Amino acid sequence: MINYNEAIEIIKSEISKIKLNLEEVDIFESYNRILAEDVIADVDLPPFDNSAVDGYAIKFSNRNQWNIIGEISAGNYSSFNLTENDAVLIATGSKLPENADTVIPIEDVNVNGNNLQLKQNITIKKGINIRTQGNDLRINEIALKQFTKIDSKSIAVLASCGKEKVKVYSKLKSALLSTGNELIPINEKPAEDKFRVSNIYSLYTAMKEMNHTVINLGFTKDDKALIRNKVGAALEMNIDILITTGGVSVGKYDFLKEIFAELGVQEKFWKVNIKPGKPIYFGVYESDNRIILVFGLPGNPVSSLVNFYVFIKPAIDYLYRQNSLNKFTAILQNDLKKKDEKRHFSRGVLYIENDELKVTSEFSQSSGNLVEMSRANCLIEIEESRLNPKKGEKVKCILI
Ligand code: AMP
Ligand code: MG
Repeated sequence: MINYNEAIEIIKSEISKIKLNLEEVDIFESYNRILAEDVIADVDLPPFDNSAVDGYAIKFSNRNQWNIIGEISAGNYSSFNLTENDAVLIATGSKLPENADTVIPIEDVNVNGNNLQLKQNITIKKGINIRTQGNDLRINEIALKQFTKIDSKSIAVLASCGKEKVKVYSKLKSALLSTGNELIPINEKPAEDKFRVSNIYSLYTAMKEMNHTVINLGFTKDDKALIRNKVGAALEMNIDILITTGGVSVGKYDFLKEIFAELGVQEKFWKVNIKPGKPIYFGVYESDNRIILVFGLPGNPVSSLVNFYVFIKPAIDYLYRQNSLNKFTAILQNDLKKKDEKRHFSRGVLYIENDELKVTSEFSQSSGNLVEMSRANCLIEIEESRLNPKKGEKVKCILI
C-alpha cells in the first residue's frame, strides 16, 4: 500500500495534464476566480502627484508664513503657479498645483484671513504628505500576476487598471455519483437498515466551496450493471473529475474498481496508508485528447469528505497554483490515540487562547460520526511514524 505523500504526488502529476480553459467574465463576476493573465497597468497609479492630507500646498522654503491664494478640491483642479510666498488650500487626493512640493497638514497651521501661519513648535520637511505619480505602480508594470485569486483587495487593482472584463481560468467540471443498497433519498425517513444519502451533499458543497462546477448524478443501488451504465455515461460527459462514493472496498458488493477497469479507466492506485479513508481509488480515463480524473471514494461520509480535503482539494489548488494558507501548527490539548503506522487525519477544534493556537480533539474519531465531524474545524495530521501524540505536543492542523 502506498503512503499519503506518494499518493498525492501521483494525483498532482495526473491533474497537471488537465488543460485549463480561459474565459472572460465581468469584473463583478470575478470574485474567487483565478486570473489567467498578468494584468498590466494602463496608467500610472496614482495618475498624478496628489496630496495625502487635507492641508496647504506650498513651495518649500525656510519661511513659516504664507499668503493663501486659492484652493483645490478633489476632482476640481485649477492651475496656480506658486512662489515661495504662496499657499493653496488642498484636499486629500487632489492634484498638486505646479511648483508645490510640500503639503502642510491643516492641523499644523493657524489661518487668519489670507494669512497662513505655521503653529509654534511645528517643523516641516520638504516633500511631506505627497503621493507621487506612479508611486504605487508605473504604467506598463504588472499590477496583478496570473493565478491571483480575485478578492476584495485585488479587485480594486483590476478596477484601477480599467479591467471591466477579466480573463480567468474556467472552473473545473465534475460529476458525483453515490452507490449503496442502504441509501435512500433525504426526503424519506430511514426504515430498518437504510441511511439517508448525505455524501452527495457534502461532496457537492466541498466542490462548490472551491468554486467549481458539479453535476449531481444521484445515487444508485449496488447493482453492477446499473452502476456500470451510470459510470459509463459519466465518462462520456464533458467533465474533468468524476467522484464516486461507496463500493470501493473489498466487500462482496464493491464493484466500482472492476467497473472502472472494464470501462478503460487506468488505475493509478487503490488504498492509501491513511486513516480514515484508506480504500480510496484513483484512476484516469483518457480519450480523444481529454482526461478525466476518477476518484472512487469510500461510502463512509466522514472518510469520503476527509479524502476530499486531503487529496482532491490540494490537487486542485496545485492545478490552479493556489497556495492555500490552511495549515497551522497548534498545541495539542489532549492525548491522541494512534497505535498504527498510518497517517491519521483526526478531527479537531482549533482555537486561539492567549495568542497561541491550540487544538482539542475530544471526539471519538469514529469515521461514522458525521455530527462530530460537523463540529470540527480542522484535521489534525499525524504522520506515519509518529505514535500517540501527547497533550502539550505540537501537531499539524489543516483547516476545513
Ligand atoms: P461503503 O464504502 O460502500 O462500504 O460504505 C460504508 C458506509 O458508509 C455504509 O455502510 C453507509 O453507512 C455509509 N454510506 C455509504 N454511502 C453513503 C452515502 N452516499 N451517504 C451517506 N452514507 C453513506
Ligand atoms: Mg457499499
